[in-house]
Amino acid sequence: MAEKQIAIIGGGPAGLMAAEALSLSGHRVTVYDSMPTVARKFLLAGKSGLNITHSEDYRLFADRFGAASPRLRAALDGFKPDDIRTWAAGLGTETFIGSSGRVFPKAMKASPLLRAWLARLEAQGVSIMTRHRWSGFADGGLAFETTQGRKIAEYDAVLLALGGASYPRLGSDASWTDWLRTKRIDIADFQPANCGFDVAWSAPFRERFAGVPLKAVTATSEAGTLPGEFVISQAGIEGSLVYAHAAALRDRLASEDKAALIIDLAPGRTAERLSRDLTRQDPKASLSNRLRKGAGIEGVKAGLLREIADPATLSHPESLARLIKALPIPLLRPRPVAESISSAGGIRWSELDDGYMLKKLPGIFVAGEMIDWEAPTGGYLLTACFATGRAAAKGMGAWLKR
Ligand SMILES: Cc1cc2nc3c(=O)[nH]c(=O)nc-3n(C[C@H](O)[C@H](O)[C@H](O)COP(=O)(O)OP(=O)(O)OC[C@H]3O[C@@H](n4cnc5c(N)ncnc54)[C@H](O)[C@@H]3O)c2cc1C
Repeated sequence: MAEKQIAIIGGGPAGLMAAEALSLSGHRVTVYDSMPTVARKFLLAGKSGLNITHSEDYRLFADRFGAASPRLRAALDGFKPDDIRTWAAGLGTETFIGSSGRVFPKAMKASPLLRAWLARLEAQGVSIMTRHRWSGFADGGLAFETTQGRKIAEYDAVLLALGGASYPRLGSDASWTDWLRTKRIDIADFQPANCGFDVAWSAPFRERFAGVPLKAVTATSEAGTLPGEFVISQAGIEGSLVYAHAAALRDRLASEDKAALIIDLAPGRTAERLSRDLTRQDPKASLSNRLRKGAGIEGVKAGLLREIADPATLSHPESLARLIKALPIPLLRPRPVAESISSAGGIRWSELDDGYMLKKLPGIFVAGEMIDWEAPTGGYLLTACFATGRAAAKGMGAWLKR
């Protein structure tokens, strides 16, 4: 097959993975990105210990993408968690499995991996054009705003890998939704995923506890009961345990306008034991002392009880014990999508064929977070971005050969 000219717009994990596969198949690949450098979100992900994939049983893994799991399955089968580890090792990045089963590079960051990856892409002939902002379709081609003004480019095939709507300052600002909607592409509105929530804290509680973590608790929502920790923020609550419940809580807030995350502040003790130990305390002692001596609860955990419970409950050992085991934090709303780790929503699966091509725009493929799927944190997001990048490259390769 003669060499084809391919444009990949968006130089995040999905776009770069597609560039790697397509350039290896002998195509001439140009990656465009609006930012001065590519993969900024990938680099930021590396700042908090790049969680590149997960080691759990693959059947469980492949089921973590909710309603999108069946549609993603073929892409994931084509680039499984072990393949990601082998791929990273091929770029000089050895990985290890953390105690939670999550997989990290030994260096815990993304920059060495990205440097090696970009060098390999360059050696494979991939051109990277930064400061090229795709601004839609024009004159049968793609329009870009550049530092030298507007450019129109034409290609044999195009991959859009423009990301979702979280952290827009890193480049993925979802402005592309307008241009695709004018082409009648059905796009589910972006919503926050893996996000914090607003809570109506009193001023004294906020001043005293914002930034303080609640460790070794469990939290319950429709997503189940999960152990972990979270943080009191100025606005409400955030952190890994909250993110694990975020999709369920967001959906409940959307359907019922109210939702609460139920916290067990003392997962190691039963309500009966707490009730017994609290009853033994001197009723004239202060609440702080009764909680500390009778339940091992102090600091932010005691503060949270006082913040949420009515005083009558706090004075009865039995009801206090029940509350310690199931303290509902009432939530107002999710934090904005711009602050969330990832986004839900995006191009609906019904718009895509099995090769990740837009059915209404033959020759234009999509990959990564811009498609309508979501997943918890744990390496699932990057894995699906890599995997859909490769699947779209495969789909494009087949389409070009047609
Ligand atoms: C703080 C943080 C930590 C994270 N940690 C992890 C983690 O540990 N593990 C994990 O699995 N996931 C993590 N994620 C999520 C993961 O980084 C994203 O899911 C992933 O980067 C999405 O990849 P993508 O290629 O689809 O899009 P992106 O990485 O968003 O890349 C899209 C690219 O498209 C470019 N672009 C957008 N619009 C235009 C335009 N109009 N013209 C030209 N270019 C454009 C952008 O500049 C960007 O470079 C984290 C995210 C955040 C914010």
